[in-house]
Amino acid sequence: MELTVLGSGTAVPHPRRSSSAFWLQIGSGTLLLDCSASALHRMAQENLNWADLDAIWISHFHLDHCGGLGPFLFATRAAPETRDRKKPLRIFGGAGLRSLIETLNSSNKNRLLDQPFPIEIVEIESLETFEILQNVEAIAHATRHTDDSHALHLREKDTTFVYTADTDFDETLGAFARRVDFLIIESSFVRNKPKKKHLELAEAINLIRRAEPKRAMLTHFYAEWDEVDFKEEVRKLRPGIEIIEATDGLRVNIP
Ligand SMILES: [Zn+2]
Ligand SMILES: [Zn+2]
Repeated sequence: MELTVLGSGTAVPHPRRSSSAFWLQIGSGTLLLDCSASALHRMAQENLNWADLDAIWISHFHLDHCGGLGPFLFATRAAPETRDRKKPLRIFGGAGLRSLIETLNSSNKNRLLDQPFPIEIVEIESLETFEILQNVEAIAHATRHTDDSHALHLREKDTTFVYTADTDFDETLGAFARRVDFLIIESSFVRNKPKKKHLELAEAINLIRRAEPKRAMLTHFYAEWDEVDFKEEVRKLRPGIEIIEATDGLRVNIP
């Protein structure tokens, strides 16, 4: 797997961190993990083959995670790059995904589902196993964030990966991500979190200790992270493994 960080920030505009989106190349397939409003332009900036994208995972329906879906489908409808595309684009997420896309589709006659290629919308349930890309097995796990928010576990051959997206502290996440090769976990705040439905650093590290992944990446940073030394803050909590700071444009090979 090869990961490209498209957006390591939150809903709040930031000069260096755009909203949540991660590009994952797995074997011959590609998967976009969350699709923020900035994601479609970020894919182009990183020279990623967005016109050939196989699947999109929407962790939940906060707009910093799904606000780019409508604009992306609006673009692929008419872009020269997708004119000859025939293979389907699959969009996965919790209950409500279809209604969200249909609402966007019916507004202003945007005809988002009228594409040169098929769009498949797949609503999944917590703990259901599904094939997100060919030969890539996925399992979702409900998180403490919204009624329909999910973490995602991926397995391709011997490589495993978890993306928590937004979540409050929940020790079952530690079990869900147990011993994976790579864990992307949110750490919205440094400490004294002002919002309950997110993690602060000590909670993220606590979950990493429970999960014991080979490597972990922290993301979804509010601006208060700009004021601190990332490495030093992490070191104080002795995570025991390598912790990577997500930055827009960072590429990581997994494992
Ligand atoms: Zn968010
Ligand atoms: Zn959220």
